Amino acid sequence: MSKETLQAVKGMNDILPEEAELWLWFEEVVRDWLHGYGYRNIRMPLVEPTALFKRAIGEVTDIVEKEMYSFEDALNGDHLTLRPEGTASCVRAVLQHNLLYNAPQRLYYSGQMFRHERPQKGRYRQFHQVGVEALGFGGPDIDAEQIIMCARLWRKLGIRDVSLQLNTLGDSASRQRHRDKLIAYFEQHMELLDADATRRLHSNPLRILDSKNPAMQDIIAGAPKLMDELEDDAIRHFEELQAILKRHDIAFEINPRLVRGLDYYNRTVFEWVTTRLGAQGTICAGGRYDGLIEQIGGKPAPAMGFAMGVERLLALVQEDGMIAPKPEVDVYVVHQGEQAAKLASLVAEQLRDDKLRVLLHCGGGSFKSQMKKADGSGASIALVIGDDEAQANEVSVKPMQGGEQVRVSVQNLVATVNQIIK
Ligand code: ATP
Ligand code: MG
Repeated sequence: MSKETLQAVKGMNDILPEEAELWLWFEEVVRDWLHGYGYRNIRMPLVEPTALFKRAIGEVTDIVEKEMYSFEDALNGDHLTLRPEGTASCVRAVLQHNLLYNAPQRLYYSGQMFRHERPQKGRYRQFHQVGVEALGFGGPDIDAEQIIMCARLWRKLGIRDVSLQLNTLGDSASRQRHRDKLIAYFEQHMELLDADATRRLHSNPLRILDSKNPAMQDIIAGAPKLMDELEDDAIRHFEELQAILKRHDIAFEINPRLVRGLDYYNRTVFEWVTTRLGAQGTICAGGRYDGLIEQIGGKPAPAMGFAMGVERLLALVQEDGMIAPKPEVDVYVVHQGEQAAKLASLVAEQLRDDKLRVLLHCGGGSFKSQMKKADGSGASIALVIGDDEAQANEVSVKPMQGGEQVRVSVQNLVATVNQIIK
């Protein structure tokens, strides 16, 4: 009887070694980049109380309404959720550990996020984000810093054809006024609203503006504009941000329709988009969330952050033909015979003590077939150990790029290998 082969959960991907090389390279570039701006790493659990996301993201949002993996812990009845995004967890952690006590914080995290969406290119149920949060900063200078740093990352990754969309959502009073006007406006056009819009009319009318339904576009185009309600402070903040971006030659387009899918944003919101990934074109998105810290139970403090979708970014990187460097091997150890095997593994450890990267041949085979493997590994040196060498406590050293094979004592091995590699 044949057993059914088990498969990964739909929408959750394995990253195989070949592709993982690209991920490792990416993670290294990202870490250097973040440290260049003074951001520090924070690591939160993958699972949080469901109430955190409901409170932070908002009940009437795509994520909370239909994308969260929520469950009851069978052992104690707790209501838990696999994190769909990182900002809520990050703010929770910062408050729980009082990190904002006497200084603002520049923080970053990376890892898996979970959303129950329909899997398709660039949209998965487990995906990865790199998230960046600046907590306790209120000025447009930090908004600009985060956008400027994104532009630098695209350069470092060799990504072309991404453009910046920018908008301001104003502050709560102007948003409330705008919201009232929106509801009144859409109420006059009830017959034109689709089911989603009708449902959201009184709970989250701003999200109606985000609708992708072609039949709704005309009525959306005529809706009251938030820009007309903005307070002077919010306008100044937005203008200052634009001025800084211009000084840094960062091109942007102001998109009044950009409202973002989460409730916590105010003032600056932005998205980096590309037309080269089909419908899933947003590779990075973020904004200011001055109200969130208080909403989660902290002393009021402003904040600004963004998250990048790693799968989408890497898809773009691959489109541009970037190939991650393969991990390098310095030495491949070939051996035959019982005595030789013992010496080979001791010698391999000795070389690793000296920071060399060593592949010890495992699985036997003729010298010839082992040498083929050594060739294929890309190592610059093969060590050959047969009974003869083992008896004498010696090793044959063969430079792979040509050059003469030499036989040296185990004591002199590290020095000889280093000489050849240099
Ligand atoms: P979208 O409009 O594409 O659904 P979003 O507004 O829900 O995106 P955010 O919550 O802002 O996305 O997440 C930030 C980034 O994470 C996105 O810009 C995208 O690059 C990536 N992302 C979001 N959801 C997914 C997913 N299901 N699979 C892969 N990447 C994702
Ligand atoms: Mg989404």
